Formats: sequence, C-alpha cells, structure tokens
Amino acid sequence: MEHLNIPPANHVKVLGGQGWVGLIDHLGTESTIVNAARVSFGKLKSTMDERDVKLLNYLIENRHTSPLEHVVFTFSVHCPLFVRGQWHRHRTWSHNEISRRYTEIDIDFYTPEKMRRQAESNRQASFADPDFEDTKLRAMVDESNRNALKLYEELLAAGVCREQARGVLPQNMMTTFWATVDLSNLLHFMRLRDSEHAQYEIREYAIAMRKLIQPIVPNVVKYYEENMQGK
Ligand SMILES: Cc1cc2nc3c(=O)[nH]c(=O)nc-3n(C[C@H](O)[C@H](O)[C@H](O)COP(=O)(O)OP(=O)(O)OC[C@H]3O[C@@H](n4cnc5c(N)ncnc54)[C@H](O)[C@@H]3O)c2cc1C
Repeated sequence: MEHLNIPPANHVKVLGGQGWVGLIDHLGTESTIVNAARVSFGKLKSTMDERDVKLLNYLIENRHTSPLEHVVFTFSVHCPLFVRGQWHRHRTWSHNEISRRYTEIDIDFYTPEKMRRQAESNRQASFADPDFEDTKLRAMVDESNRNALKLYEELLAAGVCREQARGVLPQNMMTTFWATVDLSNLLHFMRLRDSEHAQYEIREYAIAMRKLIQPIVPNVVKYYEENMQGK
C-alpha cells in the first residue's frame, strides 16, 4: 500500500522542498467547457479552434462560470497546519485529511527557509528583509518543533490517547490532504491566494497548482495570467 505522505508522480515541490502539491486526478478539458456553454445549441466539438478560445475568454471575463464547473481537479497537498487552516476556508472545495486520531507515524515539521519581518502598515502582512540575521532564530524553531514531537511521543508512551496527545503539536506540523475543486472555484482560489495580499506560504501552493493545470487548460491559464493574476 502506498503511503499518503509520498508525493504523487505529478507534483510540484514548494517551501524549499518541505511541502508539495500533486495532481492526482482530473475530469474534463477546455473542450468540455465550450461544449457545456453550447449545450443549448445541441452541438459538440472535440477540438478547440480560435473561436472556442474566444468563447472561453468571454465566459471567464463575463463570469459565466457554470461551464467551467464541468472541469474538476483532485490535488494531494502536503502543507503546514496554518496553510491548511487558510485553505479550508474555501468552502467550495472538498477535503479529506490524514487524521492524528488514527496515526502517530510520519510526523514532520516546517522550518521556514527564511524568517520575514512583520509589516508595519498591514497588520497581517510580512516582508523579506535581506539583512535579517535569522540563522539562530530558525534553529530555535527547529528545536521547538523537535521538543514538541518529543513531548508528543512521551505522552503516547505514558498511555495518553492520540487525540489528546496531538494537542501539543505546533502549527508548523505538516499535514496531508486530498482537495477536489472545479475550475471556476480554483481560479477564484488562485486569484485570492496567488496575490501579494496572501501569506507567502499558501501563495507557493497556488502558483504550483497553476503549473499543474497548465497542460490541461492552457488557454484558461493564459487568460488568468494576463487578466486575473494579482487583480
Ligand atoms: C488575503 C486574505 C486574507 C484573509 N484574512 C482573513 C482573516 O483575517 N480572517 C478570516 O476569518 N478570514 C480571512 N480570510 C478568508 C476569507 O474571508 C475567505 O473565507 C476565504 O478567502 C475564502 O473565500 P471565499 O468565501 O470567496 O471562497 P469559497 O468559500 O470557496 O466560496 C467561493 C464563493 O462561493 C460563494 N459562497 C460560498 N459559501 C457561501 C455562503 N455560505 N454564502 C454565500 N455565498 C457563498 C461566495 O460567492 C464565495 O466567494 C482571508 C482571505 C484572504 C485571501
């Protein structure tokens, strides 16, 4: 049996290789979208031509989004708990996650590659300061992660149940989940999370998903990059 924490063949590494997102399944193509839009005419086409690309762009531009919902992606995501928390706010996704009530194996933690400073103007934002001497700070985070794992293991060894012991594991713990979404809501996610307003870590995942879907919906990704990204 394959282990959930092993990335699928088609994946993109993020957070300096500590996290990843993989595409494990998808339904539909760009032809599906234009065919869905033209269902009312009772016509179907299997290839895309220039007029279809124009229609595709028109649909996205005018928020005629239901044809996009016929294209669906399932990703496998390995990310820190705090990224998972932000991700799960997107209610249009379906999620299934590894449960620390069931298993105590394969626990790993995120240690930021670089510490960022707190932004002054925006209370929830941060900025990269090249002069920030963070080697000791990163080592302290790493030590804190390891101490948390040690306490967790001590609690289990003393007979405490998994569902209580997991309470001592920090936000930096990595988790793995499957996430399924249709293309319309994925574009919405990408616009919100591949943005300078979003936290750096979740932004990495949004960018990685764009790379993964590009071969399947190249004209949609082109439209997104030219008209939606950062807007
Ligand atoms: C930069 C940034 C900062 C944020 N900061 C905070 C924060 O400080 N605190 C915080 O709590 N959250 C915060 N969020 C989360 C944010 O409020 C949203 O919960 C999250 O972005 C999901 O967006 P969504 O609801 O549009 O997406 P989805 O849940 O995927 O929904 C997609 C769309 O479906 C429709 N929809 C879904 N559910 C409903 C519903 N129940 N009723 C009506 N329409 C619905 C809406 O049109 C919605 O836009 C932040 C998000 C971002 C991107």
